Amino acid sequence: MLSSALHIASRLQAPLSRRLLSTSPPPPSFNLLQKNEHFQTLHCTRSYEAGDILSTVDGIPHPCADRFTVQTSKTDHVVLDPEFLRYTNHSCSPNVFFDLSGRQLVALKHIPANSEILFFYPSTEWSMEEPFECNCGSARCKGSIQGAKFLPKEVVEEYRVADHIRVLKEEQSGQQRREEEEGGGGERELSAV
Ligand SMILES: [Zn+2]
Repeated sequence: MLSSALHIASRLQAPLSRRLLSTSPPPPSFNLLQKNEHFQTLHCTRSYEAGDILSTVDGIPHPCADRFTVQTSKTDHVVLDPEFLRYTNHSCSPNVFFDLSGRQLVALKHIPANSEILFFYPSTEWSMEEPFECNCGSARCKGSIQGAKFLPKEVVEEYRVADHIRVLKEEQSGQQRREEEEGGGGERELSAV
């Protein structure tokens, strides 16, 4: 039930799901399942434990963010390599993290064999080119997925996120605090009049 809800959510809206189909098969520990003529999902054929490395990951630099890219710094975006990793869909209860600085795809928890491989898009994306309404079925579902910029700091802190996301979130909350302080100061001045 849950897994079919995930697939429907992914098929309808997940921005990193490919419109183009994979042209090369994944390694034996992975499987790409064909959901329809335009859509594939990535699954593992063996189990993993938290902290296990599922794959090495590289990124091919891309000039801008689009539905096919993953963000690797405040300004840089890459297309994932090897190609089969580009079919990893979003969930608000992810089972993997793309550690692009360590060039690893890391298991966040026990992953039974034949599970769909899912990551939390805002763990790398600050402001997404193509936001979507998530319907992943998780109790943790965040609804509108637009990137970490649009999530409360406490929500971002629930997840393992890339260093640039942590830094950007700190900068954003510092800016918000300053604005609130300035706003609060104005009110005090008014009430003193
Ligand atoms: Zn969700």
